[in-house]
Amino acid sequence: MKVNIGPIRELPGGVLDFQGEQELLDYKLPITFTNPIQVEGTITNTGEGFLMKANCNFRYRVHCDRCLKEFQREQQTEIIVEFLATPGSDGEDDLAFHFSGDIIDLKDCISEQVLFALPMNFICKPDCLGLCPICGKDRNADPCDCVTEQFNPQFEQLRNLLSIKGGGPNGKS
Ligand SMILES: [Zn+2]
Ligand SMILES: [Zn+2]
Repeated sequence: MKVNIGPIRELPGGVLDFQGEQELLDYKLPITFTNPIQVEGTITNTGEGFLMKANCNFRYRVHCDRCLKEFQREQQTEIIVEFLATPGSDGEDDLAFHFSGDIIDLKDCISEQVLFALPMNFICKPDCLGLCPICGKDRNADPCDCVTEQFNPQFEQLRNLLSIKGGGPNGKS
């Protein structure tokens, strides 16, 4: 999506409203965006550059990390980015985005920021029980009778320690 900043280009303090849709760049993510990203914001001529503030709304389908079921999620993120006219040659403003002419292309910037806004883990609900490690059933839908050992990371550490000392797992060997 592109914004024409012509009207405020020579007008420090000038503010431009914009809104539109932006498709995400193809990052080969294990996520399916169900709609283009809805973008609404302002661009302000700061005298030194153009400050963009935008709210992005987006929806995607993804598989739960615990139970593997696909679910849909809606997310919102605020983007604040400065655009500078023509690149600086000393490289000190590497973090800023650049443009030339009257048109600012928001594609790269929005794609990048939406990517940063995605969570590290995708869990369908906070109390998702996940799959049974023994029979593989979805424990949310179908609680099974499998007896799973209470997993305690401290004991696990201890066990590893003992198995190293004892030479072989479970003391057999
Ligand atoms: Zn889940
Ligand atoms: Zn089970």
